[in-house]
Amino acid sequence: MNIRREIRTLRRSIPQDVKIVAVSKFHPAAMIQEAYDAGQRIFGESRVQELVSKQQQLPGDIEWHFIGGLQRNKVKQIAPFVSLIHSLDSERLMLEIEKQGAACERVIPCLLQVHIAEEETKAGFSPDECLLFLKSGRWRECPHLKIKGVMGMATFTDDSEQVRKEFRLLKSLFDACKEQFFPDNPSFSEISMGMSGDYPIAIEEGSTMVRLGSLIFGER
Ligand SMILES: *Cc1c(COP(=O)(O)O)cnc(C)c1O
Repeated sequence: MNIRREIRTLRRSIPQDVKIVAVSKFHPAAMIQEAYDAGQRIFGESRVQELVSKQQQLPGDIEWHFIGGLQRNKVKQIAPFVSLIHSLDSERLMLEIEKQGAACERVIPCLLQVHIAEEETKAGFSPDECLLFLKSGRWRECPHLKIKGVMGMATFTDDSEQVRKEFRLLKSLFDACKEQFFPDNPSFSEISMGMSGDYPIAIEEGSTMVRLGSLIFGER
């Protein structure tokens, strides 16, 4: 894998306003450093221990995103530095992020993870639960947490029409949330969708942030 070349090629082919999260989970710090040296600054990790250990070893201006299932008892470890949590999917998790954000005097940016795939295994709110969560308004009482948008994963399939349909669902949910709950709030602006196998479709359907692992770093 030529990490430098992959990053340059992707940066040229993906629209400038779409952010690239380099998903470095299970890869060593040296590979992240290589991507960093090629200009990449946003990295995504899915395990707390691994994220904390890499954050300690690597340059301080990296934006670390957390993209995996997050246990409440581990929020404390990433709260001091995490730039974006993509996997907010319950009120209990929100309250813990609020608590830890307050403890380190930060406002922690988060995305609402929404279940858009056919597979049962994928985490997140259903679209209806997502709207109900916002409607409940509890998030308005959490000044140390900022909801910046939504995240979703499409079904792992070769059926590109299926994938497109799921990304469209997430985009229309984002639009509905924006209109109903964040009309005057420009910071509700992110749609994190698209991985190595489906990111071109995600971008066509309105993604603002793609999460690319194997395409940059090779097989895990
Ligand atoms: C691992 C992972 C990715 C990256 O997957 P690739 O197919 O390697 O690009 C993206 N998003 C999430 C949530 C992941 O867990």
